[in-house]
Amino acid sequence: MRADLRGDTEPTRPGDPRSPGGLSPGLLFAGCAALCLLPLLLAAAQGEPWRNAFRELSSGLVMVGYVMTLLQFLLSGRFEWLSGRTGIDRTMRFHQVAARLILVLIVLHPLLYAAPRLVPDPGDAVAALQRMFAAPSLRSGVIAWWLMILLVALAVFRDRLPVRYELWRLSHGLMALAIALLGTHHTLRVGTYAADRWLAAFWIAATALAVLALLHVYVVKPLLQLGAPYRVVANRKVADRMWEIAVEPERGAAMRFAPGQFVWLNLGHSPFSLTEHPFSLSSAPADRPRLAFTIKESGDFTRRIGEVAPGTRAYLDGPHGNFTTAGRRLSRIVFIAGGVGLAPIMGMLRQLAAERYPHPLRLVYGNRVETQILYRDEIEALRSTLDFEVSYVLSEPPSGWAGVVGELTPQVLGRCLAPFGIGDWTYFVCGPPPMMTSVEQALRARDVARERIVSERFKYD
Ligand SMILES: Cc1cc2nc3c(=O)[nH]c(=O)nc-3n(C[C@H](O)[C@H](O)[C@H](O)COP(=O)(O)OP(=O)(O)OC[C@H]3O[C@@H](n4cnc5c(N)ncnc54)[C@H](O)[C@@H]3O)c2cc1C
Repeated sequence: MRADLRGDTEPTRPGDPRSPGGLSPGLLFAGCAALCLLPLLLAAAQGEPWRNAFRELSSGLVMVGYVMTLLQFLLSGRFEWLSGRTGIDRTMRFHQVAARLILVLIVLHPLLYAAPRLVPDPGDAVAALQRMFAAPSLRSGVIAWWLMILLVALAVFRDRLPVRYELWRLSHGLMALAIALLGTHHTLRVGTYAADRWLAAFWIAATALAVLALLHVYVVKPLLQLGAPYRVVANRKVADRMWEIAVEPERGAAMRFAPGQFVWLNLGHSPFSLTEHPFSLSSAPADRPRLAFTIKESGDFTRRIGEVAPGTRAYLDGPHGNFTTAGRRLSRIVFIAGGVGLAPIMGMLRQLAAERYPHPLRLVYGNRVETQILYRDEIEALRSTLDFEVSYVLSEPPSGWAGVVGELTPQVLGRCLAPFGIGDWTYFVCGPPPMMTSVEQALRARDVARERIVSERFKYD
């Protein structure tokens, strides 16, 4: 028998978990591709006389690049109905790849216009470019062009910039908004094909949608959060440099979510401030109305997480993500966690325990030292209610350590997984990025099908 954890067929379960919604990744990708091609079709339908190949290529590429730019507002806009099933880390990886492609397409736009003049005298091409960049009629496009280069460069090198994440995020949003408005102004003013009313209407509608998506994140969502405040009810140390913060709604019901999902957590600030961070729910839907987060001290914000006092007001944006057992057809499950990557997995284990999940569950849990192991007593106790086994892995074990020694390399993982056999296990993986890559590669090398590996990276940018 298989446990069917799909939302549409499941009976009422403890905490009434809610499966993530949204389009399938294939449909989302196909929809984006179709939208990128739409302006090309509208342009082709105009029957304009053919200019030279460079100009046509320049117009075609920049149209695709510009739709992709406007689509990024929707994809990074935290819309569950759109990207909930694709998952935040896949969506953000797509955002990063798309940004690089967009940059190439937009940078090429003026260069292709000047390219035919390269022969016989390259100086002619340079002079043509200079005229373009100085022309008052092209000013909005030129500013958008430079802003695009700056925006992508600041995003790619963000980790090395001496600025706070929140400031970078604000500048990223404002620059993106400026690019959308200036780019559309440029297109409508001088675009060869945008003189057509259908194509003009397309650009105006796409820009309006992009701006609405931005307003939704920065105005509508905070307004909704104002009406649903939470309060910190407990903050306790659960391991070396790790804290568990529990919140409850001040009024009304707590949000419904699927175990393993995450929220943007704002502690003690106005919902309109940009000071919010993504954290997985380490509690289960069955624990509602109490929602818990397990947070590791790392940077500016989390370093002081232990100082958050009970009574502090909290705002939650979520739930997000598809790192969850809900909505999947599952039987035997292996969870592989590194450090605080246990947080969402703990949420799933707690929910599975509340549901008395009938199939085998295994946990491979890696840390550096023993004092970093989270919820050890609770994990041990799962053996009494579930078909559950755990392998603890430490890279710096104390003397007399009976568990596995090493990092979660393919060899160490192989040793931990050997007793289970490969069978039809589904693997849920969460931990630091290098561990994730190594584990995913090791599983693929053991012929585990891609769709049987569900993973989440604690990185959002
Ligand atoms: C889906 C997801 C789930 C997560 N779940 C957990 C969890 O359960 N427990 C846990 O300890 N950590 C979790 N994290 C990581 C956590 O969000 C970061 O460690 C935290 O935001 C770092 O903030 P900081 O200011 O202390 O660190 P900093 O050193 O200032 O930031 C470190 C890095 O964290 C990222 N970051 C910082 N602020 C933000 C922000 N506001 N929004 C998005 N990214 C930001 C940036 O990549 C930054 O470079 C999760 C991350 C993601 C994406």
